[in-house]
Amino acid sequence: MMTLKLFRNARIYTPIDDGKPLAGNEMGYVAVTEEGALIVEEGYIASIGQEGEILESLPFGEEVEEIDLEGRCIIPGFVDPHTHACFMGTREREFVMRLQGASYLDILKMGGGILSTVDKVRSASKEELYENTKEVVSRAAKTGITTIEIKSGYGLSLEHEIKMLEVIDQLNGNPLDVVPTFMGAHAIPMEYKDNPKAYVELVIDEMIPYVAKRNLAKYCDVFCEEGVFSVEDARRILQAARGYGLGLKLHADEVYDLGGAKLAAELKVDSAEHLLAASDEGLRAMAQNGILAVLLPATAFSLRKPFARARRMMELGVPVALATDCNPGSCYCESMEMVYRLAVLGMGLSMEEALTASTLNAAYAIGMARQVGSLQRGKKADFVVLEGETPGVMAYHLGASNVKEVYKMGKKI
Ligand SMILES: [Zn+2]
Repeated sequence: MMTLKLFRNARIYTPIDDGKPLAGNEMGYVAVTEEGALIVEEGYIASIGQEGEILESLPFGEEVEEIDLEGRCIIPGFVDPHTHACFMGTREREFVMRLQGASYLDILKMGGGILSTVDKVRSASKEELYENTKEVVSRAAKTGITTIEIKSGYGLSLEHEIKMLEVIDQLNGNPLDVVPTFMGAHAIPMEYKDNPKAYVELVIDEMIPYVAKRNLAKYCDVFCEEGVFSVEDARRILQAARGYGLGLKLHADEVYDLGGAKLAAELKVDSAEHLLAASDEGLRAMAQNGILAVLLPATAFSLRKPFARARRMMELGVPVALATDCNPGSCYCESMEMVYRLAVLGMGLSMEEALTASTLNAAYAIGMARQVGSLQRGKKADFVVLEGETPGVMAYHLGASNVKEVYKMGKKI
């Protein structure tokens, strides 16, 4: 006989999934159940709501394991829709250089930045890369992340991009849901420095077809930025990826307004990321096409830059999601609690808006909303128990983690 799990005595905060990401005012509509409970069956939510009603609905004669949450707040497990969590080594010295005034693009030009991580990833064995990535992911899980996207992009050759994607694939379901993104167009590798166009051809002609054939990625992403990939390169790479059935993402207008947001709208990508420098015109085009913005406030914070204009985006009707951008360079942060905090205290989101952005909208950004992102019947029982009464505790209590417990498919991580 199968055992049901009953979680009771909880304050449940969850956005409600209506079949599409929430935009504008809707981002603030979060359902609250003060004396709530949920029943978990085989890892999925069988019912959720008022404790009294849930207890009545318990099937007679079934074995039930009861867990008392003692009045604590529960929220959907965080979904982190943008990370570069598969890497080797850290770049602490480079961080110190940045503190002394070197810019991110200066460091990249000197062969540091992404390229120094590329050297370390290339010389690591698949096992070493797996162990390191697994550690990053388990730290992320401790902060309440139950679904995570991870990009390749530190291999920058067919062999090493495949190694990364195989590692990312191995981590899926163990225990987090892991969504793989191919990002061969993350930087121009050293050996193509004098002929960057040839690298773009390699991505289009060899990497994308191979990745698609082996079904190693769900999305393709491009770093569209001055000195990296132009708008025209990005358009060609993403069109090729679409031809092979991959979903599309774009690092857009992070440092300069090159027109990345407009390109995101033109190609109707699944999400556009960063957008620190995006113009109103670009954002309007995104709103008109329903393009999700994935914002990375921990990156702006770590680079000492102003945050993306989240409130303006919401005003214009752009659905907003949040992510860590976890990587060893511009943002060494695997905590969605930290990102939530920055969204509330730095970007001016309400506690409800930041919750929607870091759960349901984040799930839409990586095509996972059917399974995760809100606490509703039929979805996975992925949730976080907070040491507090509302999600706002994560922005209020700054000195410690407020994540008490994390459940993935009803099992404590
Ligand atoms: Zn990124």
